[in-house]
Amino acid sequence: MGNREIIDQGDRYLLPTYARYPLALVRGQGMRVWDADGRQYLDFLAGIAVCNLGHCHPRVVEAIRDQAGRLLHVSNLYYIEPQGELAQLLVEHTFANKVFFCNSGAEANEGAIKLARKFQKDRGEPRRVEILSAAQSFHGRTLATLTATGQDKVKVGFDPLPAGFRHVAYDDLGALEAAVGPETAAILLEPIQGEGGVRVPSPGYLRAVRELCDARGALLVFDEVQVGMGRTGTFLACEHEGVAPDLCTLAKGLGGGVPIGALLTTEVAGRSFGPGSHGSTFGGNPLATAAALATVRTIVGEGTLEHCRAMGAYFADALRSLAASCPSVTGVRGRGLLLGVELRTGVLARDVVQGLMARGFLAGTAGDQVLRFAPPLIVEKEEIGALLVALDDVLQGL
Ligand SMILES: *Cc1c(COP(=O)(O)O)cnc(C)c1O
Repeated sequence: MGNREIIDQGDRYLLPTYARYPLALVRGQGMRVWDADGRQYLDFLAGIAVCNLGHCHPRVVEAIRDQAGRLLHVSNLYYIEPQGELAQLLVEHTFANKVFFCNSGAEANEGAIKLARKFQKDRGEPRRVEILSAAQSFHGRTLATLTATGQDKVKVGFDPLPAGFRHVAYDDLGALEAAVGPETAAILLEPIQGEGGVRVPSPGYLRAVRELCDARGALLVFDEVQVGMGRTGTFLACEHEGVAPDLCTLAKGLGGGVPIGALLTTEVAGRSFGPGSHGSTFGGNPLATAAALATVRTIVGEGTLEHCRAMGAYFADALRSLAASCPSVTGVRGRGLLLGVELRTGVLARDVVQGLMARGFLAGTAGDQVLRFAPPLIVEKEEIGALLVALDDVLQGL
């Protein structure tokens, strides 16, 4: 089928929950993807920070092929070899001591919310049930995680929402200090806000939040679903600030394109998830964990993180010089290879994305006014250069 047939079929049979671009992608390799009519694109979104090693990375593909021919699924009633190996690798490269696997970012955050509440009850603090999260945050689309999300647009029509959630301004320590109380179970934060507009908090903010949690008896939960997995140049984004949470959630980039999520915890916090307390049929299944094992090994080895840091700095510099000569751009922010370009009022990010698409480049938005770039961590200077030429052209034409 060509683009048109695929689009028509989707429009006819799928619930229209996504504002999709009129494009059907059918093949990918590294930085490149092809649509059903054979047109090539350089992918500067990577499935929204999912394909961190690029499309169809040979090590990930080989691991999936190998595992698919051996064992696709068994229940978590049994031990699963790649699941344990992946957990060990994640523990060796993070603050965590224990891992629980699930299938998505929302599900990982659900697990974190459940664990935080149960942890407080287990230590004799049954009143501590409230989850504090940030305005403009994004934590998922299940009932609990959309309630934790600090954006009204995801909530409209879905009430009654679960109780025990409250929002405070992001990057505002005073507001958080005022909000934490004897009912707070945990503070849930993205170390950098992704969907909320690629917002990097002030230096020292996350460390101060850590100290606040310790002083007031709340757990600190980092949602690294988007910014983890090497996206910002360190394996977890919180490493930049030298801060470790009690719980951390991962998903998007973890499986190299295969759906998988994870909840990482310290030894102490993890004790509250005993047998029967939480579970998932597919969580950590052999296929997903084999793919993630190959993905994580490649991200922490082979110079991937160094390359991400170098390309991120190059890309950000190039965007800042473009901004200096282009009145449509009012700011550039982000870290590593998660970059946001803020556009002047009246310029819609979606229109710029469509202009880039017409020139053979995929990019994203983070809110109405912010362009989002999250290319594979293997992106090269020449590709960044080509994108910048196209972006300049689109912005000049506005
Ligand atoms: C994408 C995202 C989620 C939700 O992940 P799903 O896999 O879509 O459920 C949660 N938190 C953050 C920060 C995200 O970017």
